[in-house]
Amino acid sequence: MQRLFLAALVFCLFVPRAIRAQNDDYLVLISWDGCRWDYINRNLTPNVQKLIDDGVRAESLQPVFPSKTFPNHYTLVTGLYPENHGIVFNKFQDFITGESYRIGKDAPSIHRDKWYKGESLWITAQKHGIKSGIVFWPGSETFKKHPDYFLTYDHTMPHKERLDRLIEWISLPPAERPHLLLLYFPDADDDGHEFGPDSEKVNETIQKLDTTLGDLVGRLKETGLYKKTNIVLVSDHGMVNTDIDKRINIREMLSGFHFKVNGDSPNLTFFSDKNEIEKMYKVLKNNENGFNVYQKKQIPAHLHMRESPFTGQLLVMAKPGYYFKSPWPESKGSHGFDPEIRDVHGVFVAHGPAFKKGFTMGTIENIDVYPLLCSVMGITPTKNIDGSLNRVKAFLK
Ligand SMILES: [Zn+2]
Repeated sequence: MQRLFLAALVFCLFVPRAIRAQNDDYLVLISWDGCRWDYINRNLTPNVQKLIDDGVRAESLQPVFPSKTFPNHYTLVTGLYPENHGIVFNKFQDFITGESYRIGKDAPSIHRDKWYKGESLWITAQKHGIKSGIVFWPGSETFKKHPDYFLTYDHTMPHKERLDRLIEWISLPPAERPHLLLLYFPDADDDGHEFGPDSEKVNETIQKLDTTLGDLVGRLKETGLYKKTNIVLVSDHGMVNTDIDKRINIREMLSGFHFKVNGDSPNLTFFSDKNEIEKMYKVLKNNENGFNVYQKKQIPAHLHMRESPFTGQLLVMAKPGYYFKSPWPESKGSHGFDPEIRDVHGVFVAHGPAFKKGFTMGTIENIDVYPLLCSVMGITPTKNIDGSLNRVKAFLK
């Protein structure tokens, strides 16, 4: 009997803190795609402001390069740079095998586990016995590494329905109930592209998103779970005003050359044989206006792109506001630029039992969000990540 007691005592003392620290709390991670860092400073978002007043915020959330949707959403949930998590662009091919990855509802590649390296937040949660439910998030629809509950992407699903799914899941019997919930909204990105980041339409959209946030808080209160819920609002990137006169016709510059290309405006990376690449580099260098061209080894270190097998021998980056001519309609806003540019920064706001009240930090990096969220859930992040809890732990109580 005494032995049993001792065994129980030893178990209690030595069960990893991460597991013991799991409690009844919930974590809701919300992404407002393309919400630029300053959109929430426009006095249009009273519900965000309530969370800030009673919680924490960063002045801006710095994305990883390229400041595009899939690379950044997957960084937010893995703590890895794209060269390490694999999703380096929204669209790319393996230059050696010719296999390709692209985003899109009908793209089979979004389901293939092989493209997604690292460990996502919902897999870390699963390893600690925490269930997850996701209303759309890049990487959540894979064949094997998917969360417990998820939906097939539907760009037009109304906000209310997105909340309905979340409330449905959070109301399940305790044994089936997810404690980690992710919610995605594309509206600010759609309208930022079409109308520009400083347009009245974007302001209306931000207000609509804020109203939905208020609805979510109200519905969580109705379930009686609000006080146990940590809400974290992020965005994957911001939005830069583009100018129709700042269009660069790279294809024309490189006509006659043979190459493979990854990425899309404002970043393209080229793969070809050595001779061809040398000639292409000279042409691009001689026409370097509104963009920069780098040989792979010259790519600036802070972009973390040199190690990716999907980066070709040349990288061409448009400068802010410039864009490469494409078959798609011209847009008034774009992103993808160097993360050091403030206008591609997003938002970070958090509120709930794990967070301080009325605390603000400057710019934080989105590689640090994954270890922060693990800490909020009381679970141990996977090893070998690029992010660090130390840089953001001041947000926590
Ligand atoms: Zn995006």
